[in-house]
Amino acid sequence: MANWNNNAVTIYAPLEVVKTWLIRLSPEDQDHPVYLFNMHKLFPDRFQSDNQHGTLAGDDGWYDDNTGSTWPPDIHLDDDVNATYLGYDTVRAPNNGTLIRLHKLTGWTIINEFEEPGCGFEGTLTCDEHGITDEQRDYRPLCEVCDKKHPAEEYVDDADDRVCRQCRAEDQKPFPAENPRPHLFTEREYQGLLDNGRKASVHSDFDPMPVVRLRAPGSSASWLLAMIET
Ligand SMILES: [Zn+2]
Repeated sequence: MANWNNNAVTIYAPLEVVKTWLIRLSPEDQDHPVYLFNMHKLFPDRFQSDNQHGTLAGDDGWYDDNTGSTWPPDIHLDDDVNATYLGYDTVRAPNNGTLIRLHKLTGWTIINEFEEPGCGFEGTLTCDEHGITDEQRDYRPLCEVCDKKHPAEEYVDDADDRVCRQCRAEDQKPFPAENPRPHLFTEREYQGLLDNGRKASVHSDFDPMPVVRLRAPGSSASWLLAMIET
């Protein structure tokens, strides 16, 4: 089975100009069109003008040798005022050979943040005015809570979720003895919430009355709090 490498490519050039190096695959009316690299424009020595898709017959190793990945990816595009963004999956490894070629032909700054969880690696390709660097590192999973990448040893192996060690520790901290949210409730209300939480943890049928009503500013929404589970 093929392993898939995820590529998040940033090109510091306007979308309409980047598109001149791509071929649109899908019909005009589609909301999320798919593109391919124009392989004739990138590698005119290898692909004739009637073969912009870069179809190969009997030369399967060409893509591996020249692009880094086994076949050309389906690309999704996005942009903002700063850059154009390409998102796509490549087989086994990033197609950095194609991106380096595009950089050499255009002079654009191109960055590919790639990752391959299945093979345990990630990396960054940077093509800019200083040259070309292609760094590979061990794969670092993304924490669901802090939304940051950490080394694999920062996660509990058999946990169902991807929560880093630090976020897990934060989550398990006991509630402080004194009210940490004086703008939400008084000290007396906070102690009442803790008391009810303690009782509920011992008596499963304990059903306390609300202690605090919180109101959303500028709206009629409100919440009734009866306890803090400890
Ligand atoms: Zn985290």
